[in-house]
Amino acid sequence: MSQSGRRLPLPALPRPRVRSPGCGPLLDARGWSSVTGHTFRQVGAGSTIGMFLASPDITDAPCTPLPTRGEVSRRNGALVVINARRWAFGVPHYKGRLVDYRRYVINHEVGHALGGSHEARPSPGSPAPVMLQQTYGLDGCARNPWPGTEE
Ligand SMILES: [Zn+2]
Repeated sequence: MSQSGRRLPLPALPRPRVRSPGCGPLLDARGWSSVTGHTFRQVGAGSTIGMFLASPDITDAPCTPLPTRGEVSRRNGALVVINARRWAFGVPHYKGRLVDYRRYVINHEVGHALGGSHEARPSPGSPAPVMLQQTYGLDGCARNPWPGTEE
């Protein structure tokens, strides 16, 4: 059975993790706060950046007009939509490192919310910039979930 046909294990996740998928990477000392000086904290309402985990069949709606094809995560304005399929399974080039892929996707999408654009790869073997579209491939770079470590 293909990956897209597998049942997502979301009901087995502890509820707080489903509601707050981005807290860990954003509060980590290796995250955006170390690069930008921004501070992050989880709030119930009135957030500057909103984030939620969405099943693949509904990721397009909050991301309109940006297509997700039910496959990727996106940032639309100040809203970060994490695709539950990617959250659950990651991508092949992060095999065995699902935690790092989750860190990457949170840091990448929040990087957009902070005004960042996609970056090209530096040199082969170098750590991939977090703003490289690592979901699609590493382009010869080493996987890297953290911002500011590619220099
Ligand atoms: Zn992007």
